[in-house]
Amino acid sequence: MLTTTTPDVLIIGAGPAGLTAAAEAIRHGLTVRIIDQNESRTLFSKALVVHSRSLEIFQDMGFADDVVNNGKKFRSLNIHTGNKELSRIVFQELNWKDAVFPYWLSIPQSETERCMEDHLSDLGGIVERNTELVDLEQFPDYVRVSLKHQDNSIERVDVPWVVGCDGARSKTRNLLGLELEGKADDEVFILGDVIFDWDLPEDEGHNILSTDGIVLIVPLPEKGRFRLIFHMPELSVTEEPEITLELLQNLINQRTAFNAQISDLTWSSTFTSKHFVVSEHRQRRVFMAGDAAHIHSPVGGQGLNSGIQDAYNLMWKLALLHHGQALPELLDSYTVERHKTAQDLITRVGTATKIVTLKNAIGLQLRNQLASILLNTDKMQNRMGRDIAMLDIEYENSPVVVQDLLSQSKVDQILNKFKYVLDQKKHDFHQGPSAGMRVPNIMLPANDSTQTSNLHDLYQGTHYTLMLFSGVTNAPDMDTLLEISATVQSQYQASIQPYIITVDPQSDLDGNQHIIVDADKSIHELYAAWQSCLYLIRPDKYIAYRSQTINQKQLTAYLDRILVRKVAN
Ligand SMILES: Cc1cc2nc3c(=O)[nH]c(=O)nc-3n(C[C@H](O)[C@H](O)[C@H](O)COP(=O)(O)OP(=O)(O)OC[C@H]3O[C@@H](n4cnc5c(N)ncnc54)[C@H](O)[C@@H]3O)c2cc1C
Repeated sequence: MLTTTTPDVLIIGAGPAGLTAAAEAIRHGLTVRIIDQNESRTLFSKALVVHSRSLEIFQDMGFADDVVNNGKKFRSLNIHTGNKELSRIVFQELNWKDAVFPYWLSIPQSETERCMEDHLSDLGGIVERNTELVDLEQFPDYVRVSLKHQDNSIERVDVPWVVGCDGARSKTRNLLGLELEGKADDEVFILGDVIFDWDLPEDEGHNILSTDGIVLIVPLPEKGRFRLIFHMPELSVTEEPEITLELLQNLINQRTAFNAQISDLTWSSTFTSKHFVVSEHRQRRVFMAGDAAHIHSPVGGQGLNSGIQDAYNLMWKLALLHHGQALPELLDSYTVERHKTAQDLITRVGTATKIVTLKNAIGLQLRNQLASILLNTDKMQNRMGRDIAMLDIEYENSPVVVQDLLSQSKVDQILNKFKYVLDQKKHDFHQGPSAGMRVPNIMLPANDSTQTSNLHDLYQGTHYTLMLFSGVTNAPDMDTLLEISATVQSQYQASIQPYIITVDPQSDLDGNQHIIVDADKSIHELYAAWQSCLYLIRPDKYIAYRSQTINQKQLTAYLDRILVRKVAN
């Protein structure tokens, strides 16, 4: 048995969740090992849709361009019954609001993982393949892990932290004795990646609500190639159908009005619908992420995307704690935030799967009639954008998410003072983005008038960002804001980057890079910052804390709950 020196964190499994966790660990200054039992990454197309929030995360990590350049943007999703079109959802026309990537991106999982692994390698990380987790034991200060290598030798590693990203059949989960809570519907789907010989657009998807079973046709980046997915109501989970080109062609002929020839079947698979969440996302020094923590049907394409968000949510917290910059409550929030998100997700995906797999004739008729009404409303169509893209996930119930709001009478008093000049609703702080929400984005005019950048770029990095808004109506003097900014910076140093946002163009005359002049008040408006107020943004671009007044004492009280001061006072 070999005993090795250890990294700060060991990642089990190099799928999308593990690759995100490993790269994020390095970006946040941790040493890392990532192992996988397989000899190479997946060669299969599996998860096809990378959603808008994942692309934002990839942008923050630094490799979004590689993914976007190798994917195909969906133009639309057309919903039919037989030969009748019920609805056409054109993705460019949806209300994406502040999304930087306002589309669904089709890209095979093998290619997404290639981009992720290249990114990891650029950061100096290597996936150790043919290496399997076989045992794990927890001690107060470390986890003792046994790894089996290709030559059957066993390596023992004592490591401070472990992240189990080892997929739906997770060995980490089993070794910890964690339960999966939920149920299996056991509806059977078959799929195949084929070339379509038709004259329909290359970048459009189709959903056929056939009474024989729903059909999905999803474009892949390769010219002429599409993913076919068929619900097979008659099949039971124990049957393993042989998926041939002939079977897929017959199903196309039987369930759709497309007069299309298919060829070149490169990958096929069967999957069943299951909806489970792990009982705990963390047990002491071991965390669960990705499919190891939640299993759901691929309807809506959420699996790969939510695993990426798990890892992105976890690693900055782990790094801050490990480096002695944060308190345990911050790391505890991983479980609360991602467990609740996973539960909500399986509920929603479970309902959607139930609707698409309805079998009884009256239910089917009703579903198709309702679909033709609902899917043509703006509300439902827009849900196909931001909602499915995971841009509106909130952590409002997180223990580390706080807002200090004035009482309504105080607000009324202030607003009344300015009632002749203010549109009250627009400038009510309560209407601004709440603590626990993804921070809103906005395009900003850059110095060069031909370029623009967006507000998210300002928060880029591994630190918190403090936004001290001068407000429009009652700006406190600049010296007070500069003093708060300097105090926070000296107390928390690299953990927090403060900025003062002011509407006064005279304020940055001496070129202070921490002062942002918001001359057109667009940032103030976005944050409902009509009065002076402050927002604290987390490294994962969520609002950690906001306060309706700039109050150093309240801010310090919040920060002292989650972060460790470098300088006492
Ligand atoms: C047909 C199909 C279509 C899908 N479509 C979509 C979609 O469109 N959008 C979407 O978001 N999701 C989709 N999914 C789901 C998606 O593929 C998964 O959610 C995703 O792969 C999960 O990523 P992960 O990193 O958590 O786990 P995995 O990708 O399963 O990776 C786990 C890794 O851990 C390794 N491992 C396991 N055990 C051990 C061990 N003991 N020691 C070391 N290594 C170990 C495995 O070799 C593997 O590489 C689809 C899935 C399927 C099957």
